[in-house]
Amino acid sequence: MAEKVGFIGLGIMGKPMARNLMQIGHELVVYNRSREKADELAEEGAVVAGSPREVAEQSDVVVTMLPDSPEVREVVAGEDGVFEGIGEGSLLVDMSTISPVVTKELAAEAGKKGVGILDAPVSGGEPGAVEGTLSIMVGGGEEDFERAKPIFDVLGETVVHVGEAGAGQVAKACNQIVVALVIEAVSEALVLGSKAGVNPAKIIDVLSGGLAGNKVMEAKRDFFLEHDFDPGFRVELHHKDLGIALAASREYGVALPITAIVSQMLEALKAKGSGDRDHSAILTLIEDLAQHRIGEGASY
Ligand code: NAD
Repeated sequence: MAEKVGFIGLGIMGKPMARNLMQIGHELVVYNRSREKADELAEEGAVVAGSPREVAEQSDVVVTMLPDSPEVREVVAGEDGVFEGIGEGSLLVDMSTISPVVTKELAAEAGKKGVGILDAPVSGGEPGAVEGTLSIMVGGGEEDFERAKPIFDVLGETVVHVGEAGAGQVAKACNQIVVALVIEAVSEALVLGSKAGVNPAKIIDVLSGGLAGNKVMEAKRDFFLEHDFDPGFRVELHHKDLGIALAASREYGVALPITAIVSQMLEALKAKGSGDRDHSAILTLIEDLAQHRIGEGASY
């Protein structure tokens, strides 16, 4: 019999992930801070709990998909939190992107309670969550990984057990460095090309076939070309993630010069009121610096 799954955090990512689990027959108990999001899933058969504690009381496996470390700490270890309701032998799978330090703290506490814990952050964005094609990078014990594998296989296509507790979050920080820097590189290329009179759509088309081809250009094509920055992945979340990468860089003595610059660019976007826009809005900063909006007034 499929394990009873609890799901906490039903945002851009969590809601479609929860839906995918329900579609393969998992009985789901859900909780979200703003209740409407949970009610939507209740109409599709989920049971809505009144607190993270209640979710844990009714589940064998609890999955969390929350914004950042403070929310995960509150939901898991706070008042009426998961740790108050979870039984020995249950499993907690945190799929949020948070600090590996907080992950390790929670893992130590879970260990004392006889509760298994995995950090399993994801990449692939909203489309990956909807289609069940996420990349999932997992930290934690082998047995816990094997236990959660059937759940991961529903949510994702690439599932890798990268190491012990916290290792998943380290891999995710690496992922976020690459994505941010590629968005920055594509933005610079498109603004230069366009201001020099070349159609940015054609730049994407031709670059896609060579060594410069990348998934950012493919997935964010319309965001860039249409200036449609509805998220997707919010600027403030990516800023949070580069903060995690930069904190790790200090801890391990690894200079990350360009990551630091792009982190500052995300800071600037937040200051400009674009914190809730898609991270591809980095393009607009490069456009501001060039005094040129791609595609505008173009004769190409
Ligand atoms: P989101 O803000 O859309 O969703 C977070 C959800 O958590 C919201 O529904 C919110 O109401 C709920 N929430 C917040 N605090 C809560 C609390 N204390 N108790 C209960 N519910 C609470 O964020 P998202 O885009 O779904 O991202 C979730 C996580 O996944 C983040 O860590 C993010 O970095 C990561 N992530 C996001 C994407 C993406 O493309 N959106 C991709 C990969 C990873």
